Amino acid sequence: MTVIVAGGGIAGMAMALTCHQLDIPVVVHESVARLEPLGVGINLQPNAVRELYDLGLQEALEEIGVQAKEWALVGRNGNDVWAEPRGRDAGYRWPQYSIHRGKLQMLLYDEVINRLGPSSVITGSRFLRYDSNKDLVTAYFLNEVGEIKEVQGSVLIGADGLHSAVRSQMHPNEEGPIWGGAVMWRGTSQAKPIRTGASFVLVGKLEQRFVCYPISKPDPDTGLATINWIAELTYDTEEDWGNSDWNTKVHIDKFLNSFEDWSFDWLDIPSLIKGASAVFEYPMVDRNPLENWVDGRCVVIGDAAHPMYPVGSNGASQAIIDARLLGAAFLQHGVQPTSLLAYQNTTIESINQLVLRNRGAGPIGILGLVEERCGGIFENIEDIIPREEIEDYMSKYKAAAGFAIDALNAAPPTIAT
Ligand SMILES: Cc1cc2nc3c(=O)[nH]c(=O)nc-3n(C[C@H](O)[C@H](O)[C@H](O)COP(=O)(O)OP(=O)(O)OC[C@H]3O[C@@H](n4cnc5c(N)ncnc54)[C@H](O)[C@@H]3O)c2cc1C
Repeated sequence: MTVIVAGGGIAGMAMALTCHQLDIPVVVHESVARLEPLGVGINLQPNAVRELYDLGLQEALEEIGVQAKEWALVGRNGNDVWAEPRGRDAGYRWPQYSIHRGKLQMLLYDEVINRLGPSSVITGSRFLRYDSNKDLVTAYFLNEVGEIKEVQGSVLIGADGLHSAVRSQMHPNEEGPIWGGAVMWRGTSQAKPIRTGASFVLVGKLEQRFVCYPISKPDPDTGLATINWIAELTYDTEEDWGNSDWNTKVHIDKFLNSFEDWSFDWLDIPSLIKGASAVFEYPMVDRNPLENWVDGRCVVIGDAAHPMYPVGSNGASQAIIDARLLGAAFLQHGVQPTSLLAYQNTTIESINQLVLRNRGAGPIGILGLVEERCGGIFENIEDIIPREEIEDYMSKYKAAAGFAIDALNAAPPTIAT
């Protein structure tokens, strides 16, 4: 019996490739009629890259991604708060990639079609509801011409993202996504990469910050690369921001004036903002952790299970890890409810803690300490926070997010190939 996947994003496609690797029949139902490379930059941490390598995607990732070399926090005055090497430069056996989300999704989609055949992904097929019994699950999908199609399978995997309909049926009384007061404006512009040439740089303080990093290699003639950037402001309001859609386009006038004088001799933030051909607005939302991700023969993975603030660059990484852990459970227990529970029980507690940690600003919480101790004004950061304190803070975050260097390097493969 087939595994039914609802949602053809990062989690859904990684799940399909994993099932194929294990010789488990799988069909993905994706609500949009045509998949397009939507979104802007994301980061894949080494723990997720390891899984994609194990799926044979090493060369393809190298082609579309940039191996990140550095992660840096910079105060509003332009002085470094913290800088650390990333990926292979930090000693991981696998790189960290900065990559265009849409390109990654299309890469995974193309691989699914190549390896499993065109009938393995049904687009224009929106998941509506499920009935799960002891022998099978029936899922109902609405197609593009308004017909409801009934599909039966051994399990249903809800990989349908932040507004998951599978999750809604599992937890009918849950409120929608929760907004914590911050809004992100995201775009890409052509510019010369700064610092190491592959640095993730965050400038500012918790309530007002700007992130940028390259997601393409520099053009050999011009030296220009595609720079992903995110401008972020926090509002002190009780009201809801409303639309939590990753694809809402807005004009830069909505936020540019807050960053108008953010220019340094090494980084010109206003020009980066003005250089973008499209800017997307997204309120930083997440959901409260759930006590369970499984209902009979149904399970949720990725953002459907645990949407989190994108402050630690681990939403897409965790979606891939989920698919692999679920695959490992299938290998061990077979495609049945026991596997779904095994996957849930090995991860739910630590991921729920990570969601809450990211709500508290995740790794960039260090900027909160800087504000608290000196109002953000410092010459030498060591006078404000000793190096060991930041090192300790960062290693705790990496351990919580599953990419502590030594532990990851020594870990056996999730799915032995
Ligand atoms: C259009 C888009 C743009 C994004 N851009 C960014 C970005 O720029 N930066 C960033 O950090 N994160 C972005 N994200 C979120 C990021 O992809 C996820 O946080 C992360 O990759 C986890 O992936 P996921 O597969 O769980 O969810 P997603 O990547 O959100 O994928 C969910 C998929 O399920 C489909 N779907 C939804 N409802 C149904 C349904 N009822 N039936 C069938 N299919 C359904 C969606 O169309 C989507 O393809 C974006 C997501 C989307 C959908």
